[in-house]
Amino acid sequence: MAVAKPRILTGDTPTGSLHLGHWVGSVRRRVELQDSHDCYFIIANMHAFTTRADKPAEIRRDSLEIVRDYLAMGIDPAKSVIFLQSEVPAIAELCFLFAMLLPFNRVMRNPTLKTELELKGLGETYSFGFPLYAVGQTADILAFRPQGVPVGEDQVPHLELTREVARRFNQMYCSVSDQAEDDDHVKLGGVFPIPRADVGAVGRLVGIDGTNKMSKSLGNAIFISDSPKDVQRKVAKIFTGRQSPTAPGDVTNALFQYVDIFIPDRARVAELKDRYARGDNIGDGHVKQEVAEAINALLAPMRERRAAYEGREDLLVDILRDGCARANRLAEETLALAKSAAKLDFFPRALAVGR
Ligand code: ATP
Ligand code: MG
Repeated sequence: MAVAKPRILTGDTPTGSLHLGHWVGSVRRRVELQDSHDCYFIIANMHAFTTRADKPAEIRRDSLEIVRDYLAMGIDPAKSVIFLQSEVPAIAELCFLFAMLLPFNRVMRNPTLKTELELKGLGETYSFGFPLYAVGQTADILAFRPQGVPVGEDQVPHLELTREVARRFNQMYCSVSDQAEDDDHVKLGGVFPIPRADVGAVGRLVGIDGTNKMSKSLGNAIFISDSPKDVQRKVAKIFTGRQSPTAPGDVTNALFQYVDIFIPDRARVAELKDRYARGDNIGDGHVKQEVAEAINALLAPMRERRAAYEGREDLLVDILRDGCARANRLAEETLALAKSAAKLDFFPRALAVGR
């Protein structure tokens, strides 16, 4: 008998194209897990409306560009399910149920949410829907009852919220004891497993500003779709504050995070670190040149795969149609289980996608 593969769910908000932070923080891991796991990748297009409700055309374009970036980076739609949040209604329905299980103040205390409000300058003007996205994310994940969620470090607080929701739901509606171990919830009759965050080897790639997390919204990102020239120009901007090639350099600075992550030759990395630390006549400009070359070598095959989908929106939409049909099969099953547990199972329903 075939043993079911463990399942993972993760994804991205279409607020712009994907960047190197996504690659090292999450997508590289996804590509590795494609064969051994059942993979679901969500394009969280409704969450993009939390900050850009007035720009639907951009959100639509970015959603398709993310599919293209996925394909470029090696996600294979024959193996993995790539789908749109907006076309999986069970997610919105679960969000409504889950919103009742979380104290309002608990949601607002989420440090990732707080940082985002600050960094994006949303002040007092953010929409009611903005904090709702943190609850929505618990539904994005739990609709697929995954064991693991490959994410960057910044997502760990969100995942903690998801784990809490899953525990509460199982306790409130499935009679799972509040003493139960996380791993036993499903065995004890809970609808939801308590999913784990699977943080990649690089949990947080710093942006070219040398300070903040590389982020689509902060203007400090190197995109998968950047040209070799763009990459060179951006890497040249990485701020180190070092004065001269003979000044002893700090090998924990932003530039050396890039050296460590992107230069594959470990002996060369060790040599660069040694010479930089001693101020052995090695300028930032030289190190940046090597970093840019390494990044361009990584991106070259990705650029080629991206180019194959140039102007082929039809192919991207086909991938999403197929992905949404597959995603709905599982999410509808989860919703039926959740509705039954919450005494909402008056009669069954069937859903049609993309016809
Ligand atoms: P936004 O600015 O809109 O928040 P973002 O660039 O932060 O965009 P998200 O869509 O929030 O990207 O994140 C998608 C996934 O990529 C998450 O798992 C997140 O942890 C990971 N990720 C994003 N940026 C980085 C980074 N700089 N380092 C490591 N992981 C990252
Ligand atoms: Mg983010």
